[in-house]
Amino acid sequence: METITNTTSILLIYTGGTIGMIENPVTGALENFSFEQLKKHVPELQKFDFNIDSCQFDQPMDSSDMDAVAWRMLVDIIQNNYDKYTGFVVLHGTDTMAFTASALSFMLHGLSKPVILTGSQLPIGVIRTDGKENLLTSLEIAAAHRADGKPMVQEVCVYFENKLMRGNRTTKLNAEDFNAFRSYNYPDLATVGIHIRYNLNAIHYQEKEVPLKVYTTMSTNVAILKLFPGIQEMVVRSVLFIKGLKGVVLETYGSGNAPRKGWLVDCLSEASKRGVVIVNVTQCKSGMVDMDRYETGYQLKSAGVLSGYDITTEAALTKLMFLFGQGLSVDEVRLEMMHSIVGEISMD
Ligand code: ASP
Repeated sequence: METITNTTSILLIYTGGTIGMIENPVTGALENFSFEQLKKHVPELQKFDFNIDSCQFDQPMDSSDMDAVAWRMLVDIIQNNYDKYTGFVVLHGTDTMAFTASALSFMLHGLSKPVILTGSQLPIGVIRTDGKENLLTSLEIAAAHRADGKPMVQEVCVYFENKLMRGNRTTKLNAEDFNAFRSYNYPDLATVGIHIRYNLNAIHYQEKEVPLKVYTTMSTNVAILKLFPGIQEMVVRSVLFIKGLKGVVLETYGSGNAPRKGWLVDCLSEASKRGVVIVNVTQCKSGMVDMDRYETGYQLKSAGVLSGYDITTEAALTKLMFLFGQGLSVDEVRLEMMHSIVGEISMD
């Protein structure tokens, strides 16, 4: 049973993205506009019977420019307003939304309120925009409470085109369709039609409420290395031997397989012995890495590569950034990568 209490108050944080862009009459390219302009296009915002306040980044940004500094700004806004609001909606570009959602899930420890990221494929001023529905439904979800008065959703999520998803399970899969995000390896937290149907078994609820603790330091000494047929040693070496490199997401084939080349195993074990944490994530959209299944996967395990199980590249990368950002030792990071911190992998 869903209720919206009249003490409900949502903070809408506008970072930028297509949702708030407008066409430059000269170049035809999309450029950011202010939150005030955005609100004019959504008069329905006034119809909600709960309070909505808003704030925005000084310079709204295309999410291609997102980085650890912007994540810190977002986390600071949420922390500084945590006690004042019952929920948060973040308007964000779609291009890197899955990275931001994953990063925030690690940076906001002990979250017991909703943080819903949303955006759109068409700007809000365009007649057929998907932005209005995404924005209005995200607000409704952020304001929803259970019968006991606690928020219905208490984690970082992405809401897009009728689906509420755990943020650190999402991937952007389509550059054009409104239906642009998927959570392949974890059930949706809610589906939206005439009714908003919450999947209460999938939503994370804390057993014991703990105060919010934020982590704002992310290490950027990380990389993604994607395998392809014919990949050369020079390419692999030039990534694995970057000075100061701490963590690598190795995107492999199928259930975590890689070419059986002696030089590849040598490079990986050398890097791994030097303390680089290498995590095996499949290039497949869904399913899990299992390095015991084929010889081509087993050789990676012997080289010190860790299984990422069914984690997304976005979550694996930001998890490495988060763990190294906390100054954890290599062994501690390796240990944490092998179990779930906030529901980002399905197995422990
Ligand atoms: N380039 C835009 C961004 O990510 C695309 C979008 O919002 O959909 O900010």
